[in-house]
Amino acid sequence: MSRQPFILTAEGLNKSFAGFQAIRDLSFYLDIGELRTVIGPNGAGKSTFLDLITGRTRPDSGALMFEEKDDLLKLNEYQIQRLGIGRKFQTPTVYTRHTVYENLLLSLAGSRGLWSSLFHRTKPAEDERIDEILQVIKLSDRAYDRAGSLAHGQKQWLEIGMLLAQDAKLMLVDEPAAGMTDEETHRTGELLMSLAGPRTIVVIEHDMTFVRQISAGRKVTVLHQGGILCEGSIDRVQNDERVIEVYLGRKSRARAKPKAKPQANSHAA
Ligand code: ADP
Ligand code: MG
Repeated sequence: MSRQPFILTAEGLNKSFAGFQAIRDLSFYLDIGELRTVIGPNGAGKSTFLDLITGRTRPDSGALMFEEKDDLLKLNEYQIQRLGIGRKFQTPTVYTRHTVYENLLLSLAGSRGLWSSLFHRTKPAEDERIDEILQVIKLSDRAYDRAGSLAHGQKQWLEIGMLLAQDAKLMLVDEPAAGMTDEETHRTGELLMSLAGPRTIVVIEHDMTFVRQISAGRKVTVLHQGGILCEGSIDRVQNDERVIEVYLGRKSRARAKPKAKPQANSHAA
């Protein structure tokens, strides 16, 4: 039996900014339907990797293919989005003055454009799809409120809903739990897990409680200095010596540091 094609194949990617190598010989293979978590210290190149996939930034070298047939390096950002690759940025980017419903309608309509979407009667099928998405993201009771009035976590869910409305096959989600309460974070984890399978999701995240929640039985990738340091189950990754050294260890050492003792070195003067 032949294997399923990878939904995303990255091979030997490199990207420098003014001499600083943000992405270094990065190869990454993603199966259809995966929920893959990517972790790594600040500056590891995580967001830059997403920028390369979406065409926002171009690599200096390497290959980037979608479903093993579309060469992403030959397409612009808009064409990449049309292929079914959706991106959620770290900070929510919803239309705050429009209602939750209108935000979803705009994403659903896509190329139809802002004004014609808002001022033309919606088709029953569109209404139905928006209702479904509202239920999935648990915002049915906020449908006719302005997006700007939503709590931070709810804005993030709306944005995930907008990726669903766009019908993204591959959803790239950058630090969804940032700024969320524990309760919102947990619900976000449940939402992403419920979407994986029919869709493929890459989640970049720092919050290790959240990472453990969504990565049970799945693969985690650790980025460091623009390349892959380690890949595997969360337990394998958290026990990897190199990961402990560059990432988790550094954090726990920082936490273990005793409270500042301003006088400690004064005798040395
Ligand atoms: P992460 O998301 O893992 O924290 P980033 O991908 O945002 O890391 O950044 C990786 C490195 O590349 C950082 O040192 C950052 O300053 C640098 N970088 C990212 N984008 C740009 C850019 N457009 N211009 C210059 N430097 C950049
Ligand atoms: Mg980032």
